[in-house]
Amino acid sequence: MQLNQYITKFKQHPTPFYFYDLDLMRRTFDAAAQAIVQIPSGHIHYALKANDHPAILQEVRRRGFGIDAVSGGEVQLAIQTGIPGNKILFAGVGKTDKEIETALEADILCFNAESVPEIEVINDIAARMGKTARIALRINPNIDAHTHKNITTGLDENKFGISLEDMLPTIHLVNHLPHVVYQGLHFHIGSQLLDFMPFKELSLKINEIQQALESENIQTPSIDVGGGLGVDYADPLHNEIPDFAGYIKIFKDNLQLRPQQSFHCELGRSLSAQYAAVISRVVFIKHGAHKQFAILDAGFTDLIRPALYQASHKIVNLTSQMPEERYDIVGPICESTDVFAQDYPLPKSSRGDLVALLSAGAYGHVMASTYNARPLIPQITSDEI
Ligand SMILES: *Cc1c(COP(=O)(O)O)cnc(C)c1O
Repeated sequence: MQLNQYITKFKQHPTPFYFYDLDLMRRTFDAAAQAIVQIPSGHIHYALKANDHPAILQEVRRRGFGIDAVSGGEVQLAIQTGIPGNKILFAGVGKTDKEIETALEADILCFNAESVPEIEVINDIAARMGKTARIALRINPNIDAHTHKNITTGLDENKFGISLEDMLPTIHLVNHLPHVVYQGLHFHIGSQLLDFMPFKELSLKINEIQQALESENIQTPSIDVGGGLGVDYADPLHNEIPDFAGYIKIFKDNLQLRPQQSFHCELGRSLSAQYAAVISRVVFIKHGAHKQFAILDAGFTDLIRPALYQASHKIVNLTSQMPEERYDIVGPICESTDVFAQDYPLPKSSRGDLVALLSAGAYGHVMASTYNARPLIPQITSDEI
């Protein structure tokens, strides 16, 4: 992303804040839109939980992409943005009655259901509202995404999805209940996958499942492979746009879609991470017994990924050209986990220097909190600065 051309403007701003490079946002969406045409029946649903900034949601709407929502609030936000209900998917293990009503009112494309009790409740509420709900079953394919344990979702031990053994009886249940219809199969094996082999494995598993279902005379209108395409956190400035084309090609080459069958993917991180940064200032440089600390005015209340999943973000000093030294780069919050990086090389830094935490667009501002009575920090786009 472009940062150097904005440094003069950054200097005039109170920090910390999120900065969005909208030109890179548009190029990211261009690449995704070009990739999905490899699969003629393919649809991208943006996983709104990754980042709900209005500029992104408007871009989703303009492109005709859909939304993957995980709460009633996200369904409403998508509708308010002008995204049609028939492009919205609704996932989540704990949908409340009110959220189900919201989604039924919006006539969403499909509920991605995760349990039998959920399907029964959707059926009851749809009956009461005089509607029929489309249901896809989120199947747990027991595939190891080989990613961080806190973001692996497709193993038997995870709370998500319906097991393969329960799939057939659950489809029979859906077919038996009057106010739900079987729409398809949904999968989501994990997040931040850079190795595409698990996606190939998933495709082959789906092929097997489809054959088994067809031998029971069950036709599946749609296949949803979830999200999880990763981004390059180590070198975002040289790897700005994720490999959408390679990702879609894995499914095009390995997944045997049936005629009339629609294909859906739910991309969150890959559509939002790389064009945002947290811009922060060095408050103090502190010399400890064995190391030196660069203490920033941003903390885990603003960007929690390092504290939550030991994630690393590339960090650059925008205003120093001095030779590099090593720093523990930390925030000001009264918790020992408020550390962005340890023993990290930065040009010799001083109080007041501007520092950027890169790749902060996904699971960044949406996870911010006001712990320590810190205000939520502003989000500023390249058009606004
Ligand atoms: C979070 C989530 C996604 C998006 O995952 P990314 O790794 O950000 O692409 C997609 N589908 C479901 C069901 C999710 O919960």
